[in-house]
This record gives sequence, structure tokens and C-alpha cells, in this order.
Amino acid sequence: MRGSGGSLRVEVKIEPHRTIRGKCATCLKASPGYDRLEERRWLFVPLWGIMVHFFYAPRRVECAEHGVGVEHIPWSQGKRPVTTAMRGFLARWARRLSWRETARAFQTSWEAVYHSVEWFVEWGLTHRQLEEVHSIGVDEIHWGQGKRADQFLTVIYQIDRHCRRLLWVGRRRTQATLRRGLKELGPQVISGLRYVCSDMWQPYLRVMAQKAGQALHILDRFHIVQHLNQAVDEVRRAESTRLRGKPLADRLKKMRWKLLRRGSRVRGQARVKLWGLLESKLATGRAWDLKECFEYFWHYKSIYWAGGFLDYWTERAMRSRLEPMKRVARMLRKHEKLLLNWFKAKGEVSSGAVEGLNNKIRVVTRRSYGFRTYKAMELALYHNLGRLPEPETTCG
Ligand SMILES: [Zn+2]
Repeated sequence: MRGSGGSLRVEVKIEPHRTIRGKCATCLKASPGYDRLEERRWLFVPLWGIMVHFFYAPRRVECAEHGVGVEHIPWSQGKRPVTTAMRGFLARWARRLSWRETARAFQTSWEAVYHSVEWFVEWGLTHRQLEEVHSIGVDEIHWGQGKRADQFLTVIYQIDRHCRRLLWVGRRRTQATLRRGLKELGPQVISGLRYVCSDMWQPYLRVMAQKAGQALHILDRFHIVQHLNQAVDEVRRAESTRLRGKPLADRLKKMRWKLLRRGSRVRGQARVKLWGLLESKLATGRAWDLKECFEYFWHYKSIYWAGGFLDYWTERAMRSRLEPMKRVARMLRKHEKLLLNWFKAKGEVSSGAVEGLNNKIRVVTRRSYGFRTYKAMELALYHNLGRLPEPETTCG
């Protein structure tokens, strides 16, 4: 044990056993010694908050098959001065703390945490099983600031009941991005797909139709609700501007969040205010009413009646003289077939799965300033949401 500059550390000097020969790093066969290299240092898992270092001078062995090379060192992989146990330890902590906090807590560098997670994730990606993937969700996620093309991510999730996880993430949201993702998952995964869930985003629809035409393509309910909410909000904003200074404008004040919630979830005073708005016959009230009415769509049992409702609703919206609502109606009509697929897949695919995974992704990307690079964030996403198998490390 040694204390330098006020901080204690444990130094463990390791010597090879005199009668046990070193093993070839490639085939693990005991081989005759060749020479000894200079002493190296590895960071081990801290004990009671005290840093621990291993010191060892590796032997070189001469394997009959693989020639002269550095022996197999059980606590080390590659050239990094961190033991595999410590890498596993850091990687596991990096899921609970931010990388910066992890580095600080265990008196190491951000880079050491980064490389530990990288090693963990790469091991996991090579060893994961991609069998039994029947349903996937494809979505775009915005991250960072600005709306430039490379601030969007395309994500592919597995959304089967038995397994929900992030399968792939890539920069941008183009056809090329999604094609790249599907290629990486491999033809076996693609040909086994039965359900695909996404938004009405044209590049995704086109690629999925080309690559996995056998799968039933479903539009995610929460995306449709999002489009409706955006339209209501647009109507409200335009009307607020129009009514500025007039007494009716009061009706729209502080209504934004009430309008965006599902009607059945608005309670108490807020509810009274909402009803007041409806009675006022303001455009915002009518837009909200249309949005609420669409909720019925999801409760149909028969695809036939659901289709009938869709006709009724889009006609009503087209006659509403509310341009944002008309736009949604046109979009729904255009994608009627995909929209009705929802009823063919009912019960098979959980509609909340994509939304739930998106929320988890946002928790990670919101910390993204701590990741410094896109690559680091990508690693963090696989690390937190990929459900990857883990390399075995002692003291994890
Ligand atoms: Zn060998």
C-alpha cells in the first residue's frame, strides 16, 4: 500500500508461477518461454474506494503453431491499461451514473469509462442472438440542438412481447439510413418479420415495403395522436393571434396543455374551462372536438366499421374549414390501408412499445452533452437499451 499526494493506492505485484508455463494468447496452449517484456500496469476494481493497480511483466512464449507472442494474461485484453474486471465494473456503473460521474467516482478518466463501455457493447453486439424477431418498430428521434439532417436518428426496435429492445441506431432518417440498418440486421431477421410499426414517414414506408413486403405494416397510434395534437395546437395559435385584445381571447389563455391531453384525463376546473371553450364555437374548440372524436376509431372491433368511421371523420374534418385539421384528414386518407392494418394486427403488437422505448432513448440523449461525440451516444444507447449479453468479468 502506498500513499502519494494524499491519496492511497494498492499496488499488486504479480509474478508468474515458476513451474507453470505461459499460454499462447491465440490457442491457450502452454508453451515454452521466450523472453520477458517490461513491466506493465493495469487498473483493477477499487477496494473500499482505494485504487488498485496490478503490476506484471508479461512473458513472451513460443507456440509451436503461432510462433512467438505475448502470453495470455487472464485479467487483460489488448493494450489497454485497465483490467477486464475493471472495465466490466465501469461499464455497469456507466448505466446508472453519467460517464463523467462514473469516472469521478472511481478516480479514473472519462476515456477509461468510454473504452470500457465500448468494449462491453462491442462484445454484446457480436454475441447477441437475433432469432425470433417478429415485430419491429422503426422511428426517428431528434437529438441535440437544431433541425439539421444529422440531428435525427433512425432507430429500429424489437417490439415483440417476449423481448423489447433497441436493435439498431443510425444517423439521419433517410431511406439510405434505414437500408443500412436492415442490412446490418441481416436477411434472416428481415425475412422473419411479421409486423412493422412506424409513422407515416415516406422514406421508411417505401423501404419497408421494398425490403419486408411480407410483413404487415402498421401505423403507430401515438404518432397519429401526435399529428392531431399538432394540428389542434396550430389552430389555437392562429386563433389566439387573430383574437388578440378581444374578450374572447381569454378563453384560449393557458389552454395549451389542456387541449393536448386526452379529454377523459382533463379534470376539475380545467374541464369546466374546456367545456366553456367548446360552447364558445371558437375554431380551437371545434378542432379539439374533432381530435377527441377520432379516439373512437381505435375501439372498433371490425375493420369494416372502422373504415366507415374513417370516412365519416375525414369528411367532417374536410368540411371544418380548419386547414390544419384538413391536412391531417388528407394524410389519413392517403394512408387508409396502413391505418386499417391496425385492426388486422390487434392484440399482436403492443401500441405502447415504440413510445415507451422512445421515452427511454430521450432519457439517454438528454444527457448527450456528456457524451461529446455521436459515437459515444450511440454506444450509450446500445448499452442502456440493447439488452445485450455481457462478457463475464469477475468482480462485476
Ligand atoms: Zn498458439
